[in-house]
Amino acid sequence: MDLNKDVKYIKGVGPNRVKLLNNLGIFTLKDLITYYPRTYEDRSKPKSICECVNGEEALIEGVVCSRLSDVRIPHKTMQKLIVRDETMSATITWFNQSYLKNRFEVGKKYRFYGKISNQYGKITMTSPVFDDIDKTQNTGRIIPIYPLTFNLSQNILRKIIEAGLAEIEGNLKETLPDDLLKEYKLEEINQAIKSIHFPQEFEDFNKARNRLVFEELFIVQLALLELKNNYMTQEKGIKFDENAKMSDIINKLPFKLTKAQLRVLEEIDENMESEKSMNRLLQGDVGSGKTVVAMCAAYKAVKSGYQAAIMAPTAILATQHLENFKKIFDDLNIKCELLISGITKKKKEELLEKLKNGEIDIIIGTHALIEENVIFKNLGLVVTDEQHRFGVKQRTKISKKGQNPDVLVMTATPIPRTLALILYGDLDISIIDELPPNRKKIETFAVRKNMTDRINHFIQKQIEQGRQAYIVCPLVEENEELDLKSVEKIYETYKTEIFPQYRVEYIHGKMKQKDKDNIMKEFKEGKINILISTTVIEVGVDVPNANIMVVENAERFGLAQLHQLRGRVGRGEYESYCVLKFEGKSENVRERMKVMCDTNDGFIISEKDLELRGAGDFFGTMQHGLPEFKIANLFEDISILKLAQSAANKIVSQDPKLEKDENKKLKELIKDKFSSRIEI
Ligand code: ADP
Ligand code: MG
Repeated sequence: MDLNKDVKYIKGVGPNRVKLLNNLGIFTLKDLITYYPRTYEDRSKPKSICECVNGEEALIEGVVCSRLSDVRIPHKTMQKLIVRDETMSATITWFNQSYLKNRFEVGKKYRFYGKISNQYGKITMTSPVFDDIDKTQNTGRIIPIYPLTFNLSQNILRKIIEAGLAEIEGNLKETLPDDLLKEYKLEEINQAIKSIHFPQEFEDFNKARNRLVFEELFIVQLALLELKNNYMTQEKGIKFDENAKMSDIINKLPFKLTKAQLRVLEEIDENMESEKSMNRLLQGDVGSGKTVVAMCAAYKAVKSGYQAAIMAPTAILATQHLENFKKIFDDLNIKCELLISGITKKKKEELLEKLKNGEIDIIIGTHALIEENVIFKNLGLVVTDEQHRFGVKQRTKISKKGQNPDVLVMTATPIPRTLALILYGDLDISIIDELPPNRKKIETFAVRKNMTDRINHFIQKQIEQGRQAYIVCPLVEENEELDLKSVEKIYETYKTEIFPQYRVEYIHGKMKQKDKDNIMKEFKEGKINILISTTVIEVGVDVPNANIMVVENAERFGLAQLHQLRGRVGRGEYESYCVLKFEGKSENVRERMKVMCDTNDGFIISEKDLELRGAGDFFGTMQHGLPEFKIANLFEDISILKLAQSAANKIVSQDPKLEKDENKKLKELIKDKFSSRIEI
């Protein structure tokens, strides 16, 4: 049996259906049998006709009383069948199914499953599926319901999956070690696959799902641990100099660090001075002051004779980091430079040369830093900012440019704690859970279009007092052309109709680097009153004088993203405001807007975001570098996740490289799942 066999060889799959299956991501036998149901319908327990309730879906067993009648009604035909059981009779109807004419024999018993209507005690069932009484194709059991594609029916897909299951019948090799199955009371693979599609009882389904979810989460955990182990057990990491004291730079800062910042720095300091290489995640809400933490770590690295690299997701942010770093480091004679793709070729060559011979101490940049020709003299510390924008792969790639450099990953917490386990299972975690003092709560309002005039009036008042405003419009990457127009359109409206008296400018990711820099510079200097923007300003941008943000079509953003955006205001001494303009009437949209108005806490918001959008969407927007989960639900399966994690921990602690015979197959599983995503 070959699990990689093309689905076209499965019984019942012709050329047309191959295409349809491919649309669903099913290419091989393995894909087919792991195409899990979306839900189930219990069609196993018949009801007496007299018990059927109006509006429900029910299974009845009835004897056919008379021949099927086929009548013409306007624009269609209707088929009618009278059946009865011991309790009473029922009428069954279909539309445009003339071929059923000779399907039923009078006096014989059949099973029907469909929607019941009960009008004045008269029971009707419309368009049911049915079976001969001794068959269980469509009824008489718990029936899986699959996610479908156009032109492929539940019936057909179900038959194809049954054919697939028949091919493997009991011959799947167990993927998990026996001990693990025993310890965690997990079902054997063949039974699990069979029951996940066709459970006899819901209890079977639970057992099967439990096993499959466990396996899925377990493999991810194992892969992450293995990855972590790889960093750690390789040659030794760098032991940074104990005499390079972070306190030297902390004393030079224009403000006092918060307790949380100091605690985190202690954790980092300890890692840096140890022989093991650091792999640490720093979580902290927007504005909690992560940049300065990176600065202190970089200082220690440089003072110990190494170079540091700071990688940011956008050029704007990298540029801003550079400015902040230079403010502190120029005086100390520590050389900081910027590497982004927008710079001239000549400048770039110069930079690369200096980096290679050690004339640059701290390089700050974007993805450009991971390009092949970027070579360091002795890279000792890698900091990636706003990590959720980068995949695991990019993280490992830049680390390879040094001899086991210490790694600090910073993120603004759009990740619920429990999920951080999955995403960052390979990292130690530090949390800044305290904002610098004197931060004001950002007043947030969710409004509809009809409030536009009042909002504009409010903006005007703020600008008259010297403040500045952001207007953010959604830009969904798949539809860049169209969305860019929307930025320009909104720009035109504000500039010519609403605020002709003010300087209005716009900025988006597709503009030339130089133009973007200019706009940001002028905005920072207060020369621009209103900045229309896409989410390029989402991360990090710091302009304390800007105190209003209006988000157009706020319903199109995820909550975590709105929270990030909102973090652009409330950075100075002024009362700050965020206005979410939204459309749409759904309960879900209203609830999401309410969450934003009710809280400024990034943790709560991310939990809510996950709950309201589901894990799929949540991760979909995050380019996280992890495989999609076929069956695990990251919101509901946290308890299984924890078990899977402790199981993975145990195995890796006994067999770090998965070399023991019984663990070899686990290595295969990891490879199978991650080969394209993580360099193992
Ligand atoms: P984030 O964690 O979102 O990256 P930043 O590092 O950009 O936050 O910090 C936000 C602002 O707060 C910056 O202007 C920074 O200089 C300032 N800041 C950081 N730490 C402190 C502190 N302990 N006290 C006062 N201001 C601080
Ligand atoms: Mg930041």
